[in-house]
Amino acid sequence: MSYNELRKDYLLERWVVIATERARRPTDLAKSKPEPTKTAICPLCVGNENMTPPAVMLYQKINDEIERSQDPIVGERTKNWLVRVIPNLFPAFGSPKQPQDISKIVKNDHLLDAIGYHEVIVESPNHDEDPADAQLPQLELVVNAYIDRLKELSSKPYIKYVSIFRNFGVDAGASLSHAHSQVIATPMIPTTLREEQKASQTFFENNGSCVFCDLILTEAKSPRFIWENPDFLVLAPYASINPMEFWILPKKHSSNILNLSAAEITGFVKTLKTTLKALKNIVNDPPYNYGIHLALNPESKDSYHWHLEVYPKLATWAGFEKSTGVYINTVTPETAAETLRNAIKTLNS
Ligand SMILES: [Zn+2]
Ligand SMILES: [Zn+2]
Ligand SMILES: [Zn+2]
Repeated sequence: MSYNELRKDYLLERWVVIATERARRPTDLAKSKPEPTKTAICPLCVGNENMTPPAVMLYQKINDEIERSQDPIVGERTKNWLVRVIPNLFPAFGSPKQPQDISKIVKNDHLLDAIGYHEVIVESPNHDEDPADAQLPQLELVVNAYIDRLKELSSKPYIKYVSIFRNFGVDAGASLSHAHSQVIATPMIPTTLREEQKASQTFFENNGSCVFCDLILTEAKSPRFIWENPDFLVLAPYASINPMEFWILPKKHSSNILNLSAAEITGFVKTLKTTLKALKNIVNDPPYNYGIHLALNPESKDSYHWHLEVYPKLATWAGFEKSTGVYINTVTPETAAETLRNAIKTLNS
C-alpha cells in the first residue's frame, strides 16, 4: 500500500496532495458544456461600440499597416478595429480622480485606496475568436496589446504591478462570452507575485542562478514536460493545484514581457494556441483562467522569470482547501503532461 504524495510548490510555501490513490483520467473531468446563453446583444461585438466607454487604445489596419489609436472622448467611435481596449464599467481598481490622490494611496498597514486601472481587452471583432481557435496574426495583436498596456500602465510611478489575465467560460468567471482578456494595474504587488519574487531572489542569492532558468533545464527531461519550440517550453508544474494545469515559460531569461521580439511573440502565440487547443480537445472545451506572472521592480530583474500559468477549472475547492490553503489534485501533473503531449501530437499529425 502506497501513499498519496504531498508536494510543495517550486517557490511558494504551498502544498498539494497529489491523489494518486484516487487518480482520475483527465477525460473523466469533462463536463457537458452549458448551452451558451444567447444574450440579445453583445456589447463587445462590432457595431456596438457605443455600448462601452470609448476605447483607451485600439488597433486598426490602415494601408496594410497596423496602427494604434484611441476613440475620441466625444463623437463617433471607431468601427473597423482589430483589437479594442476599454475601461471596465465596474472597475475593481479605479483611476485617480484628482492628481493629488496618488500621493496618499497608502493610509496605513491595513488600508490603501484601491487606485489603479481595470481594462478589458477585446481580442477580436469576431465574437468566438478565442486563443484555441484564433488566427495567429490576430493572437499576435492580442499579445502586442498586452505589451502596450503593460508599458503604458507600468510607467505610472504609483502602479506597482500589472496583472494580465483571461477568464474563459462562465464557471471561470467570464461574464461576457466575447473573446476578451483583462488588465488590472494595482498600487501594491499582489501576494502570490510578491512571494514568487521573494523566493526567486533568495534562490538567486544562494545559487547565483534564476530558479526558472534552472527549472527549464531540469523539467525538460522530466515526465512533466509537455511541449517546446525554439523560444518557449511548456510543463505541468510539479505541485499543480489544478487538474491539467500547465505553465508556459520563455527560454530566454527576462523578468517581464516588455522586450519580447516579434519572433518571440510569434513563438509565444503558437505555444498558447497549441496548448489551449489540446486542452480544449481533451476535456470538452473546459472553462479556464490564465494569468501572466511578471516582475516590474528592478531588484527582480535577474532573479525573476516571467511565465504564463493556465488553470483549467475542472475541480471544486471545498472546505479543506478553503480553510487550510492545502489543495487536493486528482490528476497527477505527470498524467496531465502525458495527456497534453499526446493531444498535441494529434493536432500536429
Ligand atoms: Zn461579441
Ligand atoms: Zn530565468
Ligand atoms: Zn508564477
